[in-house]
Amino acid sequence: MSPILSIQNLSVSYGHIRAVKNIQLELNAGEITALVGANGAGKSTSLLAVSGLIKANAGKILFDGEDLTTLSPHQIVQKGVVQVAEGRAILTTLTVQENLDLGAYTRKDKAQISKDLDYIFHLFPVLKNRASGLAGNLSGGEQQMLAIGRALMAKPKVLLLDEPSMGLAPLMVQEIFRVLKEINQTGLTILLVEQNVRQALKIAQSGYVLENGEIVLQDSGQNLLNNPRVIEAYLGA
Ligand code: ATP
Repeated sequence: MSPILSIQNLSVSYGHIRAVKNIQLELNAGEITALVGANGAGKSTSLLAVSGLIKANAGKILFDGEDLTTLSPHQIVQKGVVQVAEGRAILTTLTVQENLDLGAYTRKDKAQISKDLDYIFHLFPVLKNRASGLAGNLSGGEQQMLAIGRALMAKPKVLLLDEPSMGLAPLMVQEIFRVLKEINQTGLTILLVEQNVRQALKIAQSGYVLENGEIVLQDSGQNLLNNPRVIEAYLGA
């Protein structure tokens, strides 16, 4: 299978801190790829490099025949590589509907936008019920749903998520993972950064383990779940 997105020899530093060291990572089209690892391993930095929000020191990120490291964050979104806003950075003083509309701001295909909105309301019925309410009045989990919905409104070809389950109650975590699986079943390619290693590997077809800025393991999600090194370091007893 040829990859839809390919990270090649990517290195990123903050001053003299080498956060990501010469990593290789490929996303197969239509798959969920999990990138897991401990705090500070370099997961967020890798995602930020794909989104163009941070500059790579070396390496390429190939998507659709182009090197994303040469494009602006805006151009990368327009190409269809969309990151779910970090820390659920939704606009709390706007309504839920207005937040969703913002996700589609570069699009002109009105009929399809309206279909996509229906689909998001199907995925997250609570957003439909609260559409005219202020986003700031949503719970943390609902805000995370809105952040995912807003990213989907941009009609991504690749969706990037940075710890979507962080800080959420267990039931909400289950709900978010269930929805990611459902979205993936429509054919959307997903790169999922998670510290919830078990849940992420359960829904991911492929996975990578990052330690100290380096990829130390790469395998199917299922094989990684059964890998003694992963079990010992990340899954506990
Ligand atoms: P976390 O789950 O804590 O976000 P992570 O795996 O996503 O961890 P990164 O946030 O990518 O890891 O951090 C990788 C390394 O880069 C860490 O050593 C971190 O301290 C460092 N780092 C991250 N952001 C900055 C920054 N803005 N300035 C300096 N160093 C940074």
